[in-house]
Amino acid sequence: MSSSSGRVIAVDTHDIRFPTSRELDGSDAMNPDPDYSAAYVVLRTDADDALEGHGFTFTIGRGNEVQVAAIEALRPHVLGRPVDELCADPGSLVRDLTGDSQLRWLGPEKGVMHMAIGAVANAVWDLAAKRARKPLWQLLADATPEWLVAQVDFRYIADVLTPEDALHLLRRGREGSAARTELLRERGFPGYTTSPGWLGYSDEKLTRLARQAVADGFTQIKLKVGADLADDMRRCRAARAAVGPGIRIAIDANQRWNVGEAIEWTKALAEFDPYWIEEPTSPDDVLGHASVREAVAPVKVATGEHVQNRIIFKQLLQAGAVDVLQIDAARVGGVNENLAILLLAAKFGVPVCPHAGGVGLCELVQHLSMFDYVALAGTVEDRVIEYVDHLHDHFLDPVVIGEGHYMAPTAPGFSATMRPESIAEFTFPGGAFWAADLAERARGEQRTAKGRKGEAA
Ligand SMILES: [Mg+2]
Repeated sequence: MSSSSGRVIAVDTHDIRFPTSRELDGSDAMNPDPDYSAAYVVLRTDADDALEGHGFTFTIGRGNEVQVAAIEALRPHVLGRPVDELCADPGSLVRDLTGDSQLRWLGPEKGVMHMAIGAVANAVWDLAAKRARKPLWQLLADATPEWLVAQVDFRYIADVLTPEDALHLLRRGREGSAARTELLRERGFPGYTTSPGWLGYSDEKLTRLARQAVADGFTQIKLKVGADLADDMRRCRAARAAVGPGIRIAIDANQRWNVGEAIEWTKALAEFDPYWIEEPTSPDDVLGHASVREAVAPVKVATGEHVQNRIIFKQLLQAGAVDVLQIDAARVGGVNENLAILLLAAKFGVPVCPHAGGVGLCELVQHLSMFDYVALAGTVEDRVIEYVDHLHDHFLDPVVIGEGHYMAPTAPGFSATMRPESIAEFTFPGGAFWAADLAERARGEQRTAKGRKGEAA
C-alpha cells in the first residue's frame, strides 16, 4: 500500500453516561446505583477509506472523567502512527503503551491506566477488522497461529504458558474450525441472562423476567446476591420455582464477602442448586478463591470481570481457584491480553464464560468467545456469554440474540461503534440529556431554598 493508507491524525475522547440508576437496572450488592458509562475513544486517520477505530472502557458513572483523562494521556503514543503498520501489528502499540517508562508507575498493568490501554488497543482492533472487512471474531479465527502468538505478551506468564505452548494450542484449535464456523453462523453462541436478577427488582419482577428468560430460550439465568441472606433465600426460591429444575441459576455476590462469609452464605443457598457463585470475594484474593472453591463444591466458583491482568488469571488457574473464567473485553489490556488469557484457560482446560452487560460489553466480548470456539477451545460445552438486555440500541451493530444464543456478527469491526446521536445526547455534562437534567436539578434546589426562606420568614 502507498502513503494513501494514512496515519492516525486524531484520538477523540467522549465522557458518555446513561442514567441507568433511576431504574435500578444493574443494581447489585456492591453497586446499588450505577449510571452505566463509557470512556469512549475514536481513532481517526487521513487514509482514503475514512474508516475509524472505536473503543471504550466501561465504568459506572463518577470517575468516568478520570478514565477519559487516562485515555488522553496515551494520545502521544498513537498520533502519527502509520495505519498499515498499526493494523498489521496492534501488539507493537500495546507493548509501547504498557511499557511507557513514566505512565507505568500508575499500574503496572492494572487499574485506570491499564483499562485506558485496553480501550485504545480495542479501538485499533476495531479499525483493523473494519479494514480487513471482517467481523473481529473472523479476523482472529482466520489469522495464522504464528501471528496470533506474536500478538501476545508472554512476560510474567511464560513460566506457565510459553510461545511454543500457545502455538501448539492454536494449531490444535484450528482443526475442524471450518465446520465450527458454519455451526456458529447457523446457531450462534450460547448466552445466559442476568436481566431477571438485579438486586433492586421486586420478587414479582424477578419471577416474571425469569419465566420470560426461559421462554426466550435461555438455559441459564443469574441472580445478584450478598446484601441480605433472608432476601437471597426468598429470591432464589422464587427464581427456582419460576424456572424449574432444568435451568441453571448462577449467583453473583460482586465481591461482597470475606472468605468465611462466602463459604457460609453459598452453603446456605445450596438448597436452590446454584450453578456457580460469582465474585464471592476480592478479585485479588487468589488463595481465598481457592478456599471458597474447595469448601462450596459442587457449586462452581467463577470470577474475572475485575481481574486486572493476565498474571492474576494465571495464578487463579495455577491455584485451582476457579471453575469458570470470566474475561471482560474492557478491563484488561485489550484483545492482545485477552488472547493471553484465553490461551491460559485453554491450557488449563477451564471454560471461559465472559462477563458482559454494562455499555457495549456484550457487543465486544461476543467476538472473543466466538474466536475461542472456532479456533482455540473448539467447544461451546459449559460455555455461555452473559447477556443483559439494555443499552444495545445505542450501537450501530448491536448484538442479535436468537433462542438464547448470540448470533455471529457479520459487519466488519469489533461492534464497538456507538451511534453519533447517542454520543451527543448522553455526553456528560454538556449533552442534551444531562444539560436538561442538571438545569432541572438547579431549579429544584432554587425552589427548596425559596421554600426554606419562606418558612424562616
Ligand atoms: Mg458479575
